Amino acid sequence: MLSENAYALGANRSCIRDLFEYGCQRAALVGRENVYDYSLGNPSIPSPPEVNQAVRDILADTDSLLVHGYTSAVGDYAARKAISDDLNARYGAETAPEDFFLGCGAAPELVAVFRALAVPGGELLAVAPYFPEYKPFAQEAGLTFRVVPPDVPSFQIDLEAVKEMIGPHTQAILINSPNNPSGVVYTRQTLTALGSLLKEKAAQYGHPIYLISDEPYRELAYGVEVPFIPQIYPDTIICYSYSKSLSLPGERIGYIYVSREATDSQRLYAAVAGAARACGHVCAPSLWQKVIARCAGLRPDLQSYDRNRRALYEGLTAMGYEMAKPDGAFYLFIKAPGGDANRFSELAKQKDLLVVPGDGFGCPGYFRICYCVSYDLIQRSLPVFQTLMEAFPKA
Ligand code: PLP
Repeated sequence: MLSENAYALGANRSCIRDLFEYGCQRAALVGRENVYDYSLGNPSIPSPPEVNQAVRDILADTDSLLVHGYTSAVGDYAARKAISDDLNARYGAETAPEDFFLGCGAAPELVAVFRALAVPGGELLAVAPYFPEYKPFAQEAGLTFRVVPPDVPSFQIDLEAVKEMIGPHTQAILINSPNNPSGVVYTRQTLTALGSLLKEKAAQYGHPIYLISDEPYRELAYGVEVPFIPQIYPDTIICYSYSKSLSLPGERIGYIYVSREATDSQRLYAAVAGAARACGHVCAPSLWQKVIARCAGLRPDLQSYDRNRRALYEGLTAMGYEMAKPDGAFYLFIKAPGGDANRFSELAKQKDLLVVPGDGFGCPGYFRICYCVSYDLIQRSLPVFQTLMEAFPKA
C-alpha cells in the first residue's frame, strides 16, 4: 500500500517542470537559441564573488571536521549573529541570534512552519497569486488551504476578501513579497492595513493569527521599499532563503525568523524547531552556514535583471499586453490576450515561446514569464510576442 497523496504528488509533474522538459527536448531539435524559455525561475546572475572566495577560504583555513560536521539543529551561532546584525543595521530592527533557525531554503522552512501551526481543523489563508507548492505543503501538514482571491489588476492584497475569509479556525495567512508570479512588491500601506486587520481579528477570535512571510525575493527589488514586516505586525514568521538573493538555489540555505515580540514566541520557536525535527531536519548545510556567517551582508548586483525587466515591461506594454508593475523578483504576470491563458500558452508553445499559465498560481487568465534569461533572448522573442498579440482581435 502507498500513500495515495504522496503517489499523486510524485506521479504528476508540475506544469512548470513539464514546460521546462519540453523546452529541453525542443532545444535538442531546433537549437537552444531558438527556444524562448521563460518557464523556470533559476537565477541567471552569478553569486557575488565574495561567496566563492568565502568557500575557498573556509576550506583552506578551517578544520575539515568542523567544516563538514553536524552543527546544532538551530544553526551555528556565528551565522545567526551575522544575519541578526545585518537586519538590525538595515532596518533598525531589534532581532537577536536566538530568534533565528537556520534551514535548508524557503521550501522546507515553510513546511516546518505549517506543521508547527497545524492544529486539528486549522486553516491557512494564502493570498493569490501564490507559489503552487504552498498547497501540497499545507495540505500534507494537515492545514486546510484556502485561497484569498487576487486583487486584480494591482496584485496587492484584497483586504475585504481577507476580512471575510478569516474565521475562528484561521491559524495564519501566507504572503510572498516580492511576489512570484506577479513581481509585485506589497506596499507599506497594504502591509500596515493587513496588520491592523489581523490584530483586530486575533482579538475577536481570542488567539493569534500569524502572518507567514515567504521572502526568497526580499533582496530583488528595483527601487522600491520592501518593509521588514515584523516591525509592522509582530506576529510575523519569516521564511527566508539565499536561493535567489545570493544565487545559491542548489546549496539549500536560509532561515526562519520568529520575532521575540510574537505571541507565545518561545513556544512558537520550539514548535517550529520540533516540526523541522519531525521532518528529518538535522542541520542546515554546515559549509554554507559558515559562508553566511561571512556573507550575510552581501546584496546581489541586479543590473542585468533590471535591464531584462525594463526591456520586457516596456516592450510588451507597448504591444498592448497588460500587467501589474513588476517592481521585484524576476517575473512578469501578464493578462492573456483572449482571456484564456492555457490557450495562449499552447499557441506560444507552437512558436517555441514557453510561458506558464496562471491557473496553478490561483489566478487563471494570466500567464507568468520568468526573465532570468539573456537580454539577447528577450530581444529575439519580442517579435514572437507581437505575432501572438496580433492573433487576437482587439476587444
Ligand atoms: N517560495 C517562493 C515564492 C519561490 O518562488 C520559491 C522558489 O522558487 C520558494 C519558496 C522555494 O525556494 P527555496 O529554493 O529557498 O526552497
